[in-house]
Amino acid sequence: MKQTTRNKSNTRQTQAPTSNNGRSKSPSRSNGNKDQQSLLEKFFIDQLKDIYYAEQQLLKAIPKLAEASTTEELEDAFNDHLKQTEKQIKRLEKVFQIIGKKAEGKKCEAMDGLVKESETIIKETKKGSMTRDAALIIAAQKVEHYEIATYGGLVQLALTMGLHRAADILDKTLLEEEDTDALLTEIAENYINIEAEEEGNYSWQKEAEGELETSATPASFSM
Ligand code: FE
Ligand code: FE
Ligand code: FE
Repeated sequence: MKQTTRNKSNTRQTQAPTSNNGRSKSPSRSNGNKDQQSLLEKFFIDQLKDIYYAEQQLLKAIPKLAEASTTEELEDAFNDHLKQTEKQIKRLEKVFQIIGKKAEGKKCEAMDGLVKESETIIKETKKGSMTRDAALIIAAQKVEHYEIATYGGLVQLALTMGLHRAADILDKTLLEEEDTDALLTEIAENYINIEAEEEGNYSWQKEAEGELETSATPASFSM
């Protein structure tokens, strides 16, 4: 142990003295980068394109989710969010306009994957069952969480770069995504999960039934 410490300090002593107090990790910054396009701007635009593509995929996917829903309440929630999604796309176009860029999408593998998952759920759950709605809600919440992460980040980046108007616009969408996520939780917890729970017996119920009776009280378990 001691030897390692000594070696470390030896190494430091033999290093050439640096004048930039250890800031050499970002040479472009110390050299000045007036001629270089902002990497943060490039990333911001990339993320805008990502979510622009994602929202357009959702415009196609949400009607299928609404159609597949068992309860009217969930169907309505999807249809309401479809209308919001249309507005969100317009808002993104506005943000592109503010920064003087053409509105265009860039393939988002994550959203493609999440949409595929929701299609699989429709295939693998029984039509008209509450279990389908419970599963669709979780699939939709995965989508909302992806959007919340993206818009949350975009709002902060816009503020950091002084794009206050764009930040306000993106924040409106962020709130809608958060509200939708909360609404889905409410619908699930109100009654859908409970009714889905009543749709069948668990595989572990039969095996454990005998045991459960004898171990119902903690006292008998500990004996
Ligand atoms: Fe959205
Ligand atoms: Fe993405
Ligand atoms: Fe959404």
